[in-house]
Amino acid sequence: MNIQTTSRIQLIDITASLNKEIAEAGIGTGMAMAYSPHTTTAIIINENEPGLKEDILKLLNLIVPQGRYAHDRIDNNARSHLQAVVLGNNVCMPIENGGLALGTWQSVFFVELDGPRNRKLAVRIVGTGQ
Ligand code: ZN
Repeated sequence: MNIQTTSRIQLIDITASLNKEIAEAGIGTGMAMAYSPHTTTAIIINENEPGLKEDILKLLNLIVPQGRYAHDRIDNNARSHLQAVVLGNNVCMPIENGGLALGTWQSVFFVELDGPRNRKLAVRIVGTGQ
């Protein structure tokens, strides 16, 4: 899956795209794994509420404040890497009844931390048709 991001830091809800891939794969019960092959992105699961999305971006600035980092000597994006380290680059989710078995308030987000860029997301879906 390709994802074109539009901001430096951005949360992109990919839940519908993942459910579409599960439907196309014809999987009823199983497991879906979403994996980002980048070092300045992350994948998280949480609530898609505008205020909370704002708060998550604020949290990222708090946990990795502006400052001098050794990696900035190479390409000036150490904060993006460090924020990615904290969030993690993959999630694994159960599939039931032909779709992601997420909690009522859960959505899956691709997190851009050094955009805008054209990103790739690896999705693996395994299971049975029932
Ligand atoms: Zn870098």
